[in-house]
Amino acid sequence: MAERERVILHSDLNNFYASVECLIQPGLRDKYVAVCGKEEDRHGIVLAKNQAAKMLGIRTGDTVWQAKKKCPELVVVQPHFDLYQHYSQLAREIYMDFTDQIEPFGMDECWLDVTGSVHLMGSGAEIAEQIRKRMEEELGLTVSVGVSFNKVFAKLGSDLKKPNAVTVITKANFKKMLWDLSASELLGVGRSTGKTLEKYGIHTIGQLANANPELLKQWLGVNGARLHRWANGLDTSPVQTVDYQREVKSVGRGITCVEDLDCEDDVWKVILAMAQKVAVELRSIGLHAGGIGLEVKNNQLVRMSMQSRFDVPVQTAGALAERAMEMFKAQYDWKYPVRALAVRAIYLTEAQYSQLTITDGKHPIARRAIEGVMDELKAKYGREVTTFGTLMCENKMPDKGMHEIVLPGLIKD
Ligand SMILES: [Mg+2]
Repeated sequence: MAERERVILHSDLNNFYASVECLIQPGLRDKYVAVCGKEEDRHGIVLAKNQAAKMLGIRTGDTVWQAKKKCPELVVVQPHFDLYQHYSQLAREIYMDFTDQIEPFGMDECWLDVTGSVHLMGSGAEIAEQIRKRMEEELGLTVSVGVSFNKVFAKLGSDLKKPNAVTVITKANFKKMLWDLSASELLGVGRSTGKTLEKYGIHTIGQLANANPELLKQWLGVNGARLHRWANGLDTSPVQTVDYQREVKSVGRGITCVEDLDCEDDVWKVILAMAQKVAVELRSIGLHAGGIGLEVKNNQLVRMSMQSRFDVPVQTAGALAERAMEMFKAQYDWKYPVRALAVRAIYLTEAQYSQLTITDGKHPIARRAIEGVMDELKAKYGREVTTFGTLMCENKMPDKGMHEIVLPGLIKD
């Protein structure tokens, strides 16, 4: 018997940050709006823009200066990440009325597997239409939804018509709908992969689909073979529900500082702040770090990385930060000041607390308890409510560390 065809949706909140800003400040609605990081933080770039600003050619990643040149009357607003998180959660609650198989992809996008819901709630297209309407009526936000038989095409579908639209890609129509599009539209074709493909004369998704998979593999490794399958509609990766995080291989946080760091004290504050974020995530997914990696970039943008293993897996910011600092002190030569730092928990395990022993005179169980309480306070009252004393003082992170970069490691095939 043939396997039942899956029904996958990819839902993308349109111009998410800018839409939320326009929602809470109605005065902005008929203006050209861009959400931008602070200029003095080296983050004076456009993070999001509304539809009107988009029409004038303003792009994510433009500097504020470039954007204002394109549109002198542009209104620049600063981001409110807590608010975006809140609306992202409200959107998720709507999705949950249709399925519990939800895989987020950033704050504003997610995949839904509604295969099990179609007999109750209508076809994939009908469910997508209900979601689109409810977002508009209940939240005042719009989504573009792609509906297809796999994740890759559902994602592509949500890009084809926006804002506020539904696009259906089927086994019967995908060649006609997708194969003339540029290969760079396909998930997994980033800038460098795109360039490699161009070099070999592969410009469209159709050309990718019809290329020799052996050659693709030679040029691009396993990703080449995978892209060939994806272009042919053969992506079988499941929508990962909550448990997918068990397979996370590492958890990392990094930041580029607003000023160069030129002493160990400043480095310590940044390491501690990053370790704090990593530890919160480890606890939220129930994993321990069996080791730690530290990446340091100096102001000549030369990068070095260091690694170390723990005798007993850890889950606290204190333990992560101390080990990272030890490695830094032992290995950094201070020929140049530090520009960027990233802390990464590696060799993740599901170690039990009972395996923990007091290893360094600083009781890990007490530490775990204290930081656990800090997590709860943050969840309840916002992320600013508790932190380490060291981080209350001046530090050189942009926006109190709000602009941290989530390192790769959360996305798997
Ligand atoms: Mg979006």
